[in-house]
Amino acid sequence: MMILIKNGTILTQDKNRRVIKDGAVLFEGETIKAIGQTKKVESLIKGKKLEKIIEAKGKVVMPGLVNAHTHLAMTLLRGLADDLPLEEWWFKKIFSAESKFTRRHVFLGSLLGGLEMIKSGTTCFVDFYYFEDEVASAVKELGLRANLGVGILDLETFAFKNSPESFVQFFELAERFRNDNLIRISLAPHMFQTTSRETYKKAKKAAGRFNCIMQTHLAETKAEVDFCRKKYGKTPAQILDKEKILDGKTLLAHGCHLDEKDIKILGKNKVSVAHCPVSNMKLASGVMPLARLEKAGVCLALGTDGSCSNNSLDMFGEMKFAALLQKSFFGDPALADSQRVLDMATINGARALGLEKEIGSIEPGKKADIIILDFDQPHLTPVSNIASHLVYCANGADVLTSIVNGRVVMENRKVKVIDEKKVLVQIKEILKLNS
Ligand SMILES: [Zn+2]
Repeated sequence: MMILIKNGTILTQDKNRRVIKDGAVLFEGETIKAIGQTKKVESLIKGKKLEKIIEAKGKVVMPGLVNAHTHLAMTLLRGLADDLPLEEWWFKKIFSAESKFTRRHVFLGSLLGGLEMIKSGTTCFVDFYYFEDEVASAVKELGLRANLGVGILDLETFAFKNSPESFVQFFELAERFRNDNLIRISLAPHMFQTTSRETYKKAKKAAGRFNCIMQTHLAETKAEVDFCRKKYGKTPAQILDKEKILDGKTLLAHGCHLDEKDIKILGKNKVSVAHCPVSNMKLASGVMPLARLEKAGVCLALGTDGSCSNNSLDMFGEMKFAALLQKSFFGDPALADSQRVLDMATINGARALGLEKEIGSIEPGKKADIIILDFDQPHLTPVSNIASHLVYCANGADVLTSIVNGRVVMENRKVKVIDEKKVLVQIKEILKLNS
């Protein structure tokens, strides 16, 4: 059955970054069939029955956002450890809280994070955690699109330490979701301070067997780079390059501390980097050199990171911070313009996941991952440039309707796939919180 969105302003994010006024999008099942002026698209459906018409007058219709780096179940730890030095945050607070997580925690935390994403316009995300089979169950209930990274680390004292078991889980999940329409699996070694060089090599080999992405945290902190220089005599990027681990199927989070040689290496290997500006600012980790990485040929995507270091999953906020951080830090207001940042949150995110032919823009033949924002509001009036408004004025609460793979998962802010209130009660129960 077909669904028609009509009379809206369509921000296509296609090759020419076309914006269509009084536009329509027609999709059938999971696939976009036509876009264009409403009258023209309506003429294509004469005589055919529509399942639904979504009126989009005064609204902006755009591709769903891609959150290229998060740890979804960390929503349970939101606000637990703010305003602390990084090492204390990590090793004293976060690792010890996470070590008490059960499978049920990860499932419910993922449902909570998924709800937040649906309600703020994210339709596809990259996770990086443990018990990813539980995250997959949550994703299936929510109807989101995801790349789920099975986390691996060798740290002795950590509850989820066991690398061999993580590899087994990766093989099992990669096999189970090999032909899934919404879920893909990746392998995610944690970072060099917790994960050995040998484990990285094994991870790349295992990911290659299933043609999967390998993701990792890279050059997030100066301490990590110092650790690698001391232990291996090289930077994290140089170690991965030496081991031939970097390629177009590598997704690196952060990239704050990169020298010129590192940047050249990342560009040469056509890797993707998920920029996480809010997390980097909150933990005072550093600043990713956006313009230099882009110039070197790196695909730059955007991620929120987990809810402990952000503390929000709203990609609209992330876009604004991405733009402002570059301008402020490098002293150049022309850096990280709104169209560039919007690209990071849509088509570049899709490219980082190898999904650029399926999502990231609204074009015939692509999957219907679409969000609709209410632009008829004081804080979005008047409109001179839509990309600018999306980055500098809009927020997740402006998203009225979210569609993933042709399924309307939220309409007029009512989540249709799951009982939102029930999830909030379950979260309070598992955390033993009073309402
Ligand atoms: Zn992270």
